[in-house]
Amino acid sequence: MVSEEKTIFSKIIDREIPADIVYEDEKCIVIKDINPKARVHLLVIPKKPIPTLFDLQPEDKDCMGHMMLLLPQLAQSQGLDGFKTQINTGESGGQEVFHIHIHLIGN
Ligand code: 5GP
Repeated sequence: MVSEEKTIFSKIIDREIPADIVYEDEKCIVIKDINPKARVHLLVIPKKPIPTLFDLQPEDKDCMGHMMLLLPQLAQSQGLDGFKTQINTGESGGQEVFHIHIHLIGN
């Protein structure tokens, strides 16, 4: 079934394909976007392969909160004093990879 196929981000998490990894812990991984829209363009990705925000469950609160708290730390480590975040949700929301990720973008 298509829905059971691994996403590109799960393949990166499992080291099946390469990526520029800037941070990793037990809950998430942070990589550089392959097609950056700014000097800094990171993707913060939960290790759990949740397809979209519509699929979030109450037990995902801890992981999502963890990633939110990471954003300012990551931004500062990249020399940013301000940044944009984006979560695209669903095809009509511009989502291309169906594994939740937070874009962190700044110059
Ligand atoms: P979405 O539109 O789903 O929010 O964004 C997906 C993002 O993932 C895009 O910005 C795209 O450039 C990035 N991306 C897609 N495939 C890869 C990949 O194989 N490696 C990396 N590092 N980024 C990717």
